[in-house]
Amino acid sequence: MREVTEMRAVVKQGRTVQMCRVPVPAPEPGEVLIRIEVAGVCRTDVFVAQGRLSCADPVILGHEFAGVVAAGGDNDGFATGDRVVVMPAIPCGACRRCVTGMPECCPHYQFLGVTRHGAFAEYIAVPAAVVHHLPQALSFTEGAYAEPVCASLAVLKAGIQPGERGLIYGDSRIAELTKRVLVAAGFSTAETCRMDASAPLETDAYDFVIETEPVAAAFDEIIRVLRPGGRIVLKSRPPAPVAVDLAAAVRKEVVFEAVSYGSFTESLEFLRRHDLDDLFDDARPLEDFAEVFATDDVGENLKSFLTPFPGDANWVTSRHIDKDEALLDTADELSSLSTPKFAEG
Ligand SMILES: [Zn+2]
Ligand SMILES: [Zn+2]
Repeated sequence: MREVTEMRAVVKQGRTVQMCRVPVPAPEPGEVLIRIEVAGVCRTDVFVAQGRLSCADPVILGHEFAGVVAAGGDNDGFATGDRVVVMPAIPCGACRRCVTGMPECCPHYQFLGVTRHGAFAEYIAVPAAVVHHLPQALSFTEGAYAEPVCASLAVLKAGIQPGERGLIYGDSRIAELTKRVLVAAGFSTAETCRMDASAPLETDAYDFVIETEPVAAAFDEIIRVLRPGGRIVLKSRPPAPVAVDLAAAVRKEVVFEAVSYGSFTESLEFLRRHDLDDLFDDARPLEDFAEVFATDDVGENLKSFLTPFPGDANWVTSRHIDKDEALLDTADELSSLSTPKFAEG
């Protein structure tokens, strides 16, 4: 078997982003080396590529992915060939927030594709602590969508109640996902709206509004449509500060509540119970990254995915087959995977 020591990766170095050949990472003790099957493209990746979000230099981009274990993880319950997904926010595990049960708020966290090498590559090495088994019923594409689901599940941590009148402000894919999360949690009347709605929304009408497009004009409108004492749920991560009319918020005694992530395990469970395939586009070869980044800027299209190994995975065509069939395909695919060997040192 040919030794695999080099891989293709989308690397940001200085101000340029390009496809490079780089060494396959060697997993440190406690890390798992994963062969990436599919990786999702999200606004964060585009912001990093555009230089709007500061990052390590150089850095391999990408943070939403699923793949199979290629090496390591033996002491952490993983074996070569296991199908896995990864939570890309890596808490330090030692600070006060981490030890008091708020690792999602760790101020020293590392984030794949931003502060450490990410997933637009053939392989990635990550700490075993953030690796999860991908449930059998889920495709790699669904697994690669676990992080956005996890971020949307966070809205359920906010002090909102089914029965309240709620609005998800925006009509992007993120807004649609957030709506599905809310409906599944019993918020059956949650509404979404277009940012450029021709019919204006009612003033003072909503008990809560969830923002999904963090721009000043959106906040003006959100504050206007909230009832006095209503709640704004903040879930976006804009790359720069956003101007908010605080005087308008004070006059209405608006409550601001920010949420980061829900439980990653629960997001896998959500994916198992809900079919989100209609939100997904077909995966494209890693080489198409620039074109995909250019169209993914707004996040209103279908979710884009990249794959370093187009054509060798049955999941690429398994979007609309039922989950039992997808399972068989996966088993076939796993038996044909080769394990890479790594050069010394
Ligand atoms: Zn993301
Ligand atoms: Zn920490």
